[in-house]
Amino acid sequence: MTTVEAPESHLRENPFAIAREQLARVADIFAIDQRLVNILQECKKALVVSIPVTLDDGTIQAFEGYRVTHNVARGPSKGGLRYHPDVTLDEVKALAMWMTWKCALMNIPFGGAKGGVVCDPKKLSRGELERMTRRFTSEIINEIGPEKDIPAPDVGTDGTVMAWIFDTYSMNKGHSVLGVVTGKPLNVGGSLGRLEATARGCLYCIQEAVRKKEQGLEGLRVAVQGFGNVGSFLARFLAEEGATVVAVSDSTAGLYNPKGIDIPAALAHKQETGTLRGLRGADDISNEELLVVDCDVLAPCALEQVITRDNADRVKASIICEGANGPITPSADEILEDKGVLVLPDILANAGGVVVSYFEWVQGLQEYFWKEPEVNSKLRDIVTRAFNETWHVSEERDIAMRPASYGVAVGRVADATITRGLYP
Ligand code: GLU
Repeated sequence: MTTVEAPESHLRENPFAIAREQLARVADIFAIDQRLVNILQECKKALVVSIPVTLDDGTIQAFEGYRVTHNVARGPSKGGLRYHPDVTLDEVKALAMWMTWKCALMNIPFGGAKGGVVCDPKKLSRGELERMTRRFTSEIINEIGPEKDIPAPDVGTDGTVMAWIFDTYSMNKGHSVLGVVTGKPLNVGGSLGRLEATARGCLYCIQEAVRKKEQGLEGLRVAVQGFGNVGSFLARFLAEEGATVVAVSDSTAGLYNPKGIDIPAALAHKQETGTLRGLRGADDISNEELLVVDCDVLAPCALEQVITRDNADRVKASIICEGANGPITPSADEILEDKGVLVLPDILANAGGVVVSYFEWVQGLQEYFWKEPEVNSKLRDIVTRAFNETWHVSEERDIAMRPASYGVAVGRVADATITRGLYP
């Protein structure tokens, strides 16, 4: 039996240290009681499990898996499950903390959680992935549930993985438990609009941001990093709204065309070949070049820490929409603020996914499903309200959108903690 260790991480800074530092700064700006900070800077629970899996060649590999709950003051914990070769426990802790703030900012009744398995899903067969997912679900089965902790897709996982979690949990309970995961396929209790929801939330935030600048999306030049669930739909929606998508990339290729990339063709090419590589009608660029191309809006929709102190001063966009979690490091944030770049922070910009996850959970509990326009219009209401609350705090206090969004979110979690009181 072999054990898979995480390779050296792509992360240059410890994400949990960044998340805690962000909390400390916000506590300072908003004068949040240090006793509350002492609670909120820790994760409530962190589970590390070993997941032995029989591979197709008959050998057995033990994968390492995590499920972390940061906080449950406002409701059961909610957050995605990430399959990636360099997931670390501290990364999952940071992502769990960000989920607490994201749910609070959206004012939906959830706390924050995240999960991860150290693996490369692209190198596992479907059967291996299924066995790994089902064994991981069994290892964390006492920690998850509709009233407790509700996983969802994240980097490297999708509706199929959610269906296996749903099935494994349900088999063990003896009946179907729709509310145990979200992001499920439509034929097993998923919600219309969930697949596109994160990108739709990004779109609504960009629309609000350009409206504040008294502009529209028509003719706006956009660069999108990442062509997975978030980036591909966002590029499509923006192109449909009349924006010019000048650059796109995935983990294998980057493409640039100042006159605009044919997004329907890019989507079809990715669907057919699994990569953007080889798409005609654009020049090849690297992922690093994409971040600094000439554009109005930059949307990093892949992984953390891609905009750092090394490249922040070369960013040309005037608006950055964080489709990914944590793509900008704190030192880059300072540089961007000095340059007057409007950063739409992750807990606001990419919250559309968890908002429709909330709708899916509600629909599952009631076993009553909504039409897509109802899902999308409720999503727009929630995201737009959160945007404007954040904008208001940002103007009132003359601070950037990130600390403003944290102020609103952390304030709500702190209030709930005070109201509930500290047990015992
Ligand atoms: N993984 C997504 C996020 O980071 C969605 C989480 C969810 O739907 O629970 O927001």
